[in-house]
Amino acid sequence: MAQKEIVIIGGGLAGLVSAYLLAKSGKKVWVIEKKSYPFHRVCGEYVSNEVKPFLIKEGLFPENPTAITKFRLSSLSGKIAELPLDMGGFGISRYSFDHFLYLRCKEVGVHFQLQTQALDVKVKKMPLNFSVFLDTGEVWDAGLVLGAFGKRSRIDKAMNRPFIEERSAYIGVKYHVRLDYDTDTVALHNFEGGYCGINAVENGIFNICYLGERAALKKFGNIPAMEREVLFKNPRLKAIFENGEFLFDKPEVINEINFSNKNPVENHVLMLGDAAGMITPLCGNGMAIAIQTGRMAAASVLKYANHLDIEQAYSLAWISTFKQRLSIGRGVQKLFGASLASDFAVSLVNYFPFFARQIMKQTHGEDLV
Ligand SMILES: Cc1cc2nc3c(=O)[nH]c(=O)nc-3n(C[C@H](O)[C@H](O)[C@H](O)COP(=O)(O)OP(=O)(O)OC[C@H]3O[C@@H](n4cnc5c(N)ncnc54)[C@H](O)[C@@H]3O)c2cc1C
Repeated sequence: MAQKEIVIIGGGLAGLVSAYLLAKSGKKVWVIEKKSYPFHRVCGEYVSNEVKPFLIKEGLFPENPTAITKFRLSSLSGKIAELPLDMGGFGISRYSFDHFLYLRCKEVGVHFQLQTQALDVKVKKMPLNFSVFLDTGEVWDAGLVLGAFGKRSRIDKAMNRPFIEERSAYIGVKYHVRLDYDTDTVALHNFEGGYCGINAVENGIFNICYLGERAALKKFGNIPAMEREVLFKNPRLKAIFENGEFLFDKPEVINEINFSNKNPVENHVLMLGDAAGMITPLCGNGMAIAIQTGRMAAASVLKYANHLDIEQAYSLAWISTFKQRLSIGRGVQKLFGASLASDFAVSLVNYFPFFARQIMKQTHGEDLV
């Protein structure tokens, strides 16, 4: 089989944005995605406005998102603090957003290999090129490979990435609900060991998504019991869960959510989005970072002909833009999921809103055009 110019493994936001920009500039691009669009994913579905100008400019801004301008926080005991958001964001389901980007990619000629998993990537040197092993038994030769396969994939194991051996304490759970709640607000409600985000997406639907402890699920045996025994201790969450009309038969659930450091380039593969490192969800900008890495990777590929120059440009751009944001995000997460810390966070927002805003700012970027 002839060598493919660019192969992107994973068709989430990072993979789709990079595929779109590269194909639009005349590159021949193949995306391997293990699912097929549209599909639901565990995600809070609040997108920071830092990427809005870029999405509008590229014709990638979805049609019917909900504008979000306010932030609400509650402690374990239900104490509330509210703050206007300096930058703000929009709510859109991944079901709609990823599907919309997929259709835009098809329009500019991206080739998709759906319902297919990449199992491994091997590098051949002199000249540098790649073999991508698929679960169909095929092996694709590629001139360049971008890894956009999310926070954790079996390909991480095949590539011997160190974080893969660590067990994570967290699980993620997501629902779509109809609810009488403020559409202009993203709320974060604390509970013992975690926090739950609520915001509107499209068509009057709300996303409820929480990061909880694997140990709590083990202790209480199943998700409804864990929610009753742990989440409902926060009266705000109890009211939301009891008044919502739940639209899924069962929640979307993931485990092994790991916030460890990763490298933006591994074995000559450029890592994008969560595959390069995941920011803690409460910062509400993992999607914006995924989009930005897609743009950065495409810019490096389009600027340089030599593979090592591409790697170096992308690595430097990634480290200077995201390394500190991810590390501050890990620090801020310590203010969540425990009684005293969450009371402190609520007091900080209520009495020292300037400091709270400065901390938020540190985990977000400037407007991306
Ligand atoms: C509980 C929770 C809440 C969150 N809330 C928010 C929020 O409100 N706002 C926000 O901005 N961010 C949020 N995030 C983070 C956000 O979801 C991610 O940062 C973002 O989805 C990363 O995009 P990505 O393209 O890197 O990866 P993904 O969106 O995960 O896409 C990766 C894709 O690769 C595919 N794939 C994986 N392995 C293979 C393989 N071997 N072969 C082929 N395909 C493969 C997968 O099927 C998937 O489609 C949240 C995360 C969690 C866990």
